[in-house]
Amino acid sequence: MTDSQLSEMLRNPFPDADSGRGVVIAGPCSAETEEQVMSTARQLADAGVGIFRAGIWKPRTKPGNFEGVGARGLAWLRKVKAATGMKTATEVATRAHVAAALRAGVDYLWIGARTTGNPFAVDEIAAALKSAPDTPVLVKNPVGPDLEAWIGALQRLAAAGITRLAAVHRGFSRFGPSPYRNEPEWRIPIELHRRLPGLPILVDPSHIGGSRELVAPLAQEALDLHFSGLMIESHCNPACAWSDAGQQLLPADLASLLSSLVPRRGDAPSEKLDMLRAGIDAIDTQLLALLRRRMDASLEIGDYKRLHAMPVVQEKRYKALMEERVAQGEAQGLSAGFLRELFQTIHAESVRVQTQSEPKA
Ligand code: PEP
Ligand code: MN
Repeated sequence: MTDSQLSEMLRNPFPDADSGRGVVIAGPCSAETEEQVMSTARQLADAGVGIFRAGIWKPRTKPGNFEGVGARGLAWLRKVKAATGMKTATEVATRAHVAAALRAGVDYLWIGARTTGNPFAVDEIAAALKSAPDTPVLVKNPVGPDLEAWIGALQRLAAAGITRLAAVHRGFSRFGPSPYRNEPEWRIPIELHRRLPGLPILVDPSHIGGSRELVAPLAQEALDLHFSGLMIESHCNPACAWSDAGQQLLPADLASLLSSLVPRRGDAPSEKLDMLRAGIDAIDTQLLALLRRRMDASLEIGDYKRLHAMPVVQEKRYKALMEERVAQGEAQGLSAGFLRELFQTIHAESVRVQTQSEPKA
């Protein structure tokens, strides 16, 4: 299935979303007790939240942690709907989860990060939804930074007739220390938006940040990048939560976060912006011409190395070049991370052209 075929099939899963800050889905990581669910839900409804989330079946990284209350928690979600008028959402990973959630009248289903990357599980969910193809499904990104697997999961659902779809960006895991629980890697959901412009993409700052303090700045970043809405974890007593205690917000704190967010308007055409963009376009044209010159110089070096039977990659030179360029760029106020990534990419392309080029006649 091509991107444009998928795009044409998509239907809006959020017909009554607010156009300013977009869709807001909030609720606890896990449904724990009826009291916790009802107390959190009442407070969130008062804060204007339209869709209440709660995990009933919890896929945990390590065994021995709380794995959700299971199907009995679905009755509490039904009660939330009746008492507050909010719509409800929960995570499904198997055929049995889907059947139980549909029977209980859950409005939105989401596929969790650990499931999206598993084609068998996604096909099983899609098959279980064939009898209820109007059910809106939110597909979280897979754990690893794999855009094709994310799109593949959307395609599997669409192929089964499930087309009221949205994506949820919850960050990507990586090895090594980071201020985030899951790396935001904004370029991946941005690329998803480029490929499937009609697909709403929500951002889950709770699972990206992993800590309460990071939720608000990430939520604002999501709005600045013009994503379609937010999924945020909120609990009536976050410190005592049975899962993800460090990242959940009190409903009152969620309410003040939502009122502090500054929405951005759509693409308002303006002469000033057109002028600034023309400036960028001219700079990019120069950048491309410079890159072409750099690759020509690199090809010439490649010919020389071949003539003298020298290896293409010269470790010492590469290390010195990186250090120098990062220092030069930092002196001009550019960030070290950006410079490293930029020169790694440029160097990789130089190596590719030097390896693949034909010797000059
Ligand atoms: C969740 O939303 O509670 C959850 C388990 O999320 P993820 O699949 O993004 O880890
Ligand atoms: Mn969670």
